[in-house]
Amino acid sequence: MKFYPLEHLCKILDKYGISYKKRERCYKCSDVLFQAIPGITIKEEIITFAQNAKFNATEKIPEEAWMHPGMHCPNCGFTIFHSYKID
Ligand SMILES: [Zn+2]
Repeated sequence: MKFYPLEHLCKILDKYGISYKKRERCYKCSDVLFQAIPGITIKEEIITFAQNAKFNATEKIPEEAWMHPGMHCPNCGFTIFHSYKID
């Protein structure tokens, strides 16, 4: 399995004239989003996110501290899912 950072994927899209701007802030409440990247984001970061989240993060984040790859809002729980190509 190969993972590409979002910045790399944006460059590929740029090449084809498709613009995709990485969201830094939540669509709903404009709080700063937390980015969960497979192989980069560590368990401790996910646990810290869950502990500081203003919504009920225990429903969303299981005990093993796994998060779906993407951007997660610590305030309202809004999520932008990212998918990655599997080789
Ligand atoms: Zn939000």
